[in-house]
Amino acid sequence: MRGLLDKLAEGCELTEQEWKFLIAGSYDRNLLYARADEVRRKHYGTNVYIRGLIEITSYCRNDCFYCGIRCSNTKARRYRLSEEEILACCDSGYQLGFRTFVLQGGEDAFFTTERVAQIVTAVKEKYPDCAVTLSLGERERAVYEAWYQAGADRYLLRHETASKEHYEKIHPQELRYEHRIQCLQDLKQIGYQTGCGFMVGSPYQSTEALLADMQFLRKFQPHMVGIGPFIPHHDTPFRECAQGSLTQTLTMVALTRLLLPGTLLPATTALGTIHPEGRELGLKAGANVVMPNLSPAAVRSQYSLYDRKACTGDEAAEGLESLKRRVEAAGYQVVTDRGDSRLGQ
Ligand code: SAM
Repeated sequence: MRGLLDKLAEGCELTEQEWKFLIAGSYDRNLLYARADEVRRKHYGTNVYIRGLIEITSYCRNDCFYCGIRCSNTKARRYRLSEEEILACCDSGYQLGFRTFVLQGGEDAFFTTERVAQIVTAVKEKYPDCAVTLSLGERERAVYEAWYQAGADRYLLRHETASKEHYEKIHPQELRYEHRIQCLQDLKQIGYQTGCGFMVGSPYQSTEALLADMQFLRKFQPHMVGIGPFIPHHDTPFRECAQGSLTQTLTMVALTRLLLPGTLLPATTALGTIHPEGRELGLKAGANVVMPNLSPAAVRSQYSLYDRKACTGDEAAEGLESLKRRVEAAGYQVVTDRGDSRLGQ
């Protein structure tokens, strides 16, 4: 087991069998978490980077089977933030110490190329020392280019699963695996710090699918990787499915840290939702980013991707002081910094 972790940490390629053994976790997982923590400290010290998450729209044209804001969920409450509201979120975030704003939303035609470019320009003009991350789904390359020209620094687009077969079981036919991967490649080529990622324990996921995720990460070399447990939403076709497990999610976070020592890894909101100490456990397994919610309090519950999604307390930007204390108690510290990726360093 230790030999295998050494091999992975040294950048050696593992066989399929070795990967499957590591993913299955029939060993003392604390050894894996400790090794991942060691590697994270080597590259990032004890720094924890914070991102202010602004959920700009709950409208979405897509119908992903797992997601609470899928277009055919007629019970979902929908909202859009105006440019003024988004800037007001950035204002309060900046005061709190955030130096990255993440503008996330469903695929909403209202947010045209020009409208998003205008918002990005406005945020960057007001806060030139901050990074802007977009997470607005699949668009044409020319659209990504326009937003990059407007000043966006980073883009998050989880690949969701690197197994095409699995992808097709959790998405409707019109969403194509190849297109999602093409978008990620375009984003990276354009120059964005690019984040991909996947859910752990999503319906029909096999060890082979998780192995495909690891192989994809190795090839793609993302600057960020968002890994969170699948959590069912009561108004989706997957309402009866089991949620992803804490230990399996932590295992995938730790393996990703060893595979990509310089990448940025959030201890995701979903991880914090399934366990009261999910965030701390994520940090101890190699994660180094947290993304508290900066959206206006009045709309937060409407961005309902899965049941019980945490958006108050330490998940909320206003709860930053308490989050800082918890991060410190876990042995790390929240820093006021853009927190750029050290991939390849
Ligand atoms: N529309 C953008 C996109 O497709 O990347 C960003 C918004 S999307 C709702 C953000 C992420 O939420 C997805 O990439 C997915 O991994 C996650 N998500 C959606 N439903 C979820 C669920 N039921 N459990 C856990 N994560 C979920």
